[in-house]
Amino acid sequence: MPRPQQTVFERNVPARAVVDHALGTARQAVLWLDDLGERAGFPALTASTSADIAVVGGGYTGLWSALHAKQRHPGARVVLVEGRSVGWAASGRNGGFCGARLARDDDYGRGRPPDESDPLTRLGQENLAAIGAAVVDLGLDCQWERTGVVDLAIEPHQIDRLLDAAARAARAGAPHTFLDRAKVRAEIASPTYEAGLVRPDAAALVHPARLAAELARVASDLGVEVFEQTRVTGLARAEGGARGAVVLRTTTPAGEATLLADRVLLATSAFPSLLRRYHRHALPVYRYAIATEPLSTALLGAIGWRGRQGLADVAHRSHHYRLTADHRIVFGGHDAVHPYGGQVSRTYEDRPATFRRLAEHLLTTFPQLEGIRLTHRWSGAEDVSTGSGAFFGQAAGGRVQHAAGLAGRGVSGSHFAAQVMLDRLDTLDGAPATERMAATVRHASVPFPPEPVAAAAVRATRRALDQADHQGGRRNALLRSLDALGLGLDT
Ligand SMILES: Cc1cc2nc3c(=O)[nH]c(=O)nc-3n(C[C@H](O)[C@H](O)[C@H](O)COP(=O)(O)OP(=O)(O)OC[C@H]3O[C@@H](n4cnc5c(N)ncnc54)[C@H](O)[C@@H]3O)c2cc1C
Repeated sequence: MPRPQQTVFERNVPARAVVDHALGTARQAVLWLDDLGERAGFPALTASTSADIAVVGGGYTGLWSALHAKQRHPGARVVLVEGRSVGWAASGRNGGFCGARLARDDDYGRGRPPDESDPLTRLGQENLAAIGAAVVDLGLDCQWERTGVVDLAIEPHQIDRLLDAAARAARAGAPHTFLDRAKVRAEIASPTYEAGLVRPDAAALVHPARLAAELARVASDLGVEVFEQTRVTGLARAEGGARGAVVLRTTTPAGEATLLADRVLLATSAFPSLLRRYHRHALPVYRYAIATEPLSTALLGAIGWRGRQGLADVAHRSHHYRLTADHRIVFGGHDAVHPYGGQVSRTYEDRPATFRRLAEHLLTTFPQLEGIRLTHRWSGAEDVSTGSGAFFGQAAGGRVQHAAGLAGRGVSGSHFAAQVMLDRLDTLDGAPATERMAATVRHASVPFPPEPVAAAAVRATRRALDQADHQGGRRNALLRSLDALGLGLDT
């Protein structure tokens, strides 16, 4: 085995005191939710009721589902139930990169290469454009910025990968620009950058929690009935009543009730599926982020970054970072933790060692930030499937639709998944199958193995990703086998 090489973060560790100073003020709280402040909220479901379409889950997937259901069927009674509050989970905690990619393709030799012939590639661009149009048409006040992204080589061995990706983009007619070391550092002043690939069409940035809150506001204005603090504890086919209807049992702080629904959309993400058969189709994985205080004009000037693009390095254990509207840096990635047994629990949210590493890596990336304070550190669970795209399931002859496994592509993928679930419901009324539905079949996933095998597989994959970063980017046999099978644990 070749001797491990240190990464740029191990070669240039910031002084301990500088990291201590930065971390000293970081509260365990989600910047985006803090920034949202108090909002009125929605009532809990206190009496049994019925709906034409019931949606479970008040993250982006559920919210887009409810919104589009109402737009497609204005006369239908659409009810959304959320166990806690709208947008409290991954949808209020993410990095806000709203990307054009819907599947786990990778330009940089870290997995399956992108397949330009896959309809999902084009559908992904259309999906991003549709979200942008919805932001304008619906008046969503969510700090939408069509900045694109810059992918960054932070080790010399990563430069060729950017060049390959640039050549592929040129052949496909994509407007991507390769920046060599001098040019990328002139654009964004980091001593860790070896090269960059500017991809203006790859993503927009958004304020995650605002997007969720605004979707809920608009859905409610359109007539969707939204209930918070209302957890669905189970579902069953209705007996006696409407043929084929489904009963959702709900619980709230005030007691229990039922929701009788003709059709149901399950958008519960990393939380246990209400359909037993899909319990192992998506695993929760915790991801971590930190935020700085607002940067002064002088500090911003020293860094550059005038295009405010989303930034991501192309290491196997990559980092993603961006500016906020008030000029903070939100910096995340690198670490990901799978809770044993797939339990979503607050105990996984506070990992001091992970936050310290993120703070170190931020200060290595931008040494100009010496003396800066971090204000927030937080974590959230995203849902990872084994397939290269989201996972879609159904029950009750198609009356219950379920989407999960959006992982780190859920900001845009949720909009697409909602449309696919609604397309699938509409076929019950004779609507033809759509291209969207067909495109997702190609990316079908298989269930994860039970514990302790799942945890061991995740551990082995994490080790392999770390090794690849210490061995010139070379992927070991495990990662190459996962690539060949189209299986991924490598979010
Ligand atoms: C730190 C972090 C950074 C990320 N960065 C990005 C990024 O930059 N770009 C990107 O595309 N993706 C990113 N992601 C992933 C993205 O946030 C998710 O894919 C997306 O938010 C998933 O949306 P969702 O609606 O499916 O799930 P969630 O937002 O998790 O919502 C699911 C909701 O369902 C509710 N629920 C569950 N079970 C029940 C029940 N039985 N009854 C009632 N309600 C229930 C939950 O309370 C929850 O509110 C990130 C995730 C994290 C954690």
